[in-house]
Amino acid sequence: MTPQHGRTDEGAPSPLEERLVSLIRSNGPISIADFMSDALGHPHYGYYMARSPFGADGDFTTAPEISQIFGELIGAFLVRAFHDLGAPASFQLIELGPGRGVLMADILRAAGAQKDFISAARLTLVEMSGRLRHEQSRRLAQSAVAPAWADRFTDSPDGPALIIANEFFDCLPIRQFERCDAGWRERLVGLDQAGQRLAITHASTPPAPEMMLPPAESAPLGAVFEVNEPACRLAADIAIHLRHNRGRALIIDYGHLTRGFGDTLQAVRAHRFSPPLAAPGLADLTAHVDFDAIAHAALDEGASVAGPVTQGAFLRRLGLDLRLANLCAAHPERADELTIGARRIADAEHMGEIFKVLCVSSPDLPPPPGFDP
Ligand code: SAH
Repeated sequence: MTPQHGRTDEGAPSPLEERLVSLIRSNGPISIADFMSDALGHPHYGYYMARSPFGADGDFTTAPEISQIFGELIGAFLVRAFHDLGAPASFQLIELGPGRGVLMADILRAAGAQKDFISAARLTLVEMSGRLRHEQSRRLAQSAVAPAWADRFTDSPDGPALIIANEFFDCLPIRQFERCDAGWRERLVGLDQAGQRLAITHASTPPAPEMMLPPAESAPLGAVFEVNEPACRLAADIAIHLRHNRGRALIIDYGHLTRGFGDTLQAVRAHRFSPPLAAPGLADLTAHVDFDAIAHAALDEGASVAGPVTQGAFLRRLGLDLRLANLCAAHPERADELTIGARRIADAEHMGEIFKVLCVSSPDLPPPPGFDP
């Protein structure tokens, strides 16, 4: 193992960095995936466990936090999917990683007039953070459907399912491999030369063949290849669940359409990028979602897949412009704010291009709206 680049930031180590440094000192480097899991989900110091990340005072904002239209259009999409399922007497409405519960509150408000949908919905929120569960519970207290919580998607109850995951897959831990002189080597989190701070190192031996890395000759020296096993596993689990139970899942995240090289691990703190190893537990840490890989994982389990398409195209096809016009007519005093919010979620220079939408369905359902021009 050779330490690569030392770090430039001078901030004191976070409590989680101190723990990781002493762990690595005794046991050796850890994978980027283990680092990411601890940085986000460590029971005491994990970012989502200990902090309130969202909104102007937090570290980042998400589409439902920016514009109510996002959740309203998804609510209409889910109502349509409910009818495509034949309006069953009960179905599982499942959200993965609901954050502050804003998206689900908007979905349920938008679907509120559809009495058959509301009375059939059994709501499960998959959330690891006790603090966020509390916030979700408060925000949904007035909603027509009472939530239950699960730790993992695979704990969700059986029954026809409508599943939504916005900015959830990007939290799932990736592994990174780098093309070095000797071939592909896994990038690991080790210690800098002084042995005091975290730094990227490389495994001394090649990765196992089942990682299926691209041939070394096709990659320039220094190229980074990312593999997201938990994301592919989850996409496969969703597909299996839908095949057995029928239903549809909408996966929305920032990511790329086709596989390629690149280090996409990024940390965001107080709305600014920060070095990914600099403040574990204090910064949000994400990686771009490899939509090609998760689409194939779902297809391999017999689900049908639509997309991925860009978020902007998806929202416009679902009627963003008409919804915005109606809202502005009903609330002229909020027209500027509503218009700015709609642009931020749909325009190419904001979230419209970089965010992608993938729909996974049981094969019996018709094609979903929003995916074909
Ligand atoms: N969907 C929300 C929030 C996205 S942030 C929105 O659009 O605003 C990610 C959410 O996923 C948080 O609620 C976080 O606590 C949760 N989360 C991240 N990793 C998780 C995991 N492995 N298991 C369960 N929940 C997780």
